[in-house]
Amino acid sequence: MKGYQIQELSKVIQIDRKKCKGCDSCKEFCPTNAIDGKYGTVHSINNDKCVFCGQCLVNCPFAAPTDVIDPVDQVIQKLKNKQITVVAAIAPAVRVAIGEEFGMEPGRLVTEKLYGAMKEAGFKIFDVNFAADHTIMEEGSELLAKIRHYLLGEKVEHHLGVLPQFTSCCPAWVRYVELNYPQIIPNLSSAKSPMMMAGSLAKTYGATDVWHVNPEDMYVVGVMPCTAKKFESSRAEFDSAAEYWKKQGKTASYPDVDTTLTTRDLARLFKKLNINLNTVYDFKDSDNPLAQYSGAGTIFANTGGVMEAALRTAYFIITGSELQTLELTPVRGLKGIKEASVTMKDIKTGKELIVKVAVVYGIKENAVPLIEQVIAGTSPYHFIEVMNCPGGCVNGGGQPIHAMGTSWLDKWKVMLPWN
Ligand code: SF4
Ligand code: SF4
Ligand code: SF4
Repeated sequence: MKGYQIQELSKVIQIDRKKCKGCDSCKEFCPTNAIDGKYGTVHSINNDKCVFCGQCLVNCPFAAPTDVIDPVDQVIQKLKNKQITVVAAIAPAVRVAIGEEFGMEPGRLVTEKLYGAMKEAGFKIFDVNFAADHTIMEEGSELLAKIRHYLLGEKVEHHLGVLPQFTSCCPAWVRYVELNYPQIIPNLSSAKSPMMMAGSLAKTYGATDVWHVNPEDMYVVGVMPCTAKKFESSRAEFDSAAEYWKKQGKTASYPDVDTTLTTRDLARLFKKLNINLNTVYDFKDSDNPLAQYSGAGTIFANTGGVMEAALRTAYFIITGSELQTLELTPVRGLKGIKEASVTMKDIKTGKELIVKVAVVYGIKENAVPLIEQVIAGTSPYHFIEVMNCPGGCVNGGGQPIHAMGTSWLDKWKVMLPWN
């Protein structure tokens, strides 16, 4: 199998031969042309090209693509084992979607009900919005170092990649770059995604200061709107907590995130445990520092959110004041891409500079033209956010499936609380 490390998942979605009608609809949504098969014949997924985004799964009219990995029973076993502390790292896009699986109207924000259900199931809660704040600080600091070095001409002691900086929190996008454009890997931000940030924080600070348990006795479950996160949590390089403990002289060998449940998986888990989101008690978890977060973390799930949050961080440090407005406008001649220019005055030197940013979702149609510009050395941008799924993670491949596929996305976006 092409480019996989030992222990990584090499297959996340498969097509059920008995259900596939060969209608070709999935090919429209696949960002990587990973689906083989002629019209009218049974289709299959080429795992050397697949980036595990699940868009074929949520858009097939015959429910033929399915998840290969079903961790629900394994997580229930862990929850029943009283020796193990099971921590759920819950992504923001889950709380606006899971209500649908229990008959609520689409887009309803059910954070406290979700927390109540998680508590009843036996999970400890780690709100990924909190971890998103850390990703933003890391990604914003990295951007800041590059701006200081490349645009303001300062000598910066920092592990520098190159500009433009691409976001790295979407595992489907990262996988796409690795497979198709390895020459731009130095452009990817080195910041971990919020889920992986949550896993490493849970098994270090969370273990010692919040739950007071041995990190070896923890089981961290990513709860995500995304099928590609199942692949991400299996990636061999994400064992920062174990590396940290080894440096403290301990024997440690475990991943930062042990497994990942999609929104659909979590709904099945609740149903297997007879937990009904409609009737469960609301829970706030106010005493848990890992369940708190800022407005920056909250906008992370929407397209444009990562870039805006990191840019605001860099802007504040360079200018000493808050960025008041960031107006993204569509790029003429390039469909699906929005851009903005931000003028910053360095508080230390008085030097003025213009930082250009772009936001894009949809790899095949929209990100590829920007990659080509970067490779040709003609990119006008300094920071580019790429998310694979239409509208960002709110419409990820792990979300509830609708008869209309993703065509109702705009309506849903309007209903989201941060819109
Ligand atoms: S959309 Fe579904 S039924 Fe149609 S070809 Fe793809 S997998 Fe098969
Ligand atoms: S999971 Fe995504 S990349 Fe893989 S075949 Fe389906 S649509 Fe294509
Ligand atoms: S946009 Fe979000 S949901 Fe979609 S593949 Fe990327 S991380 Fe997953």
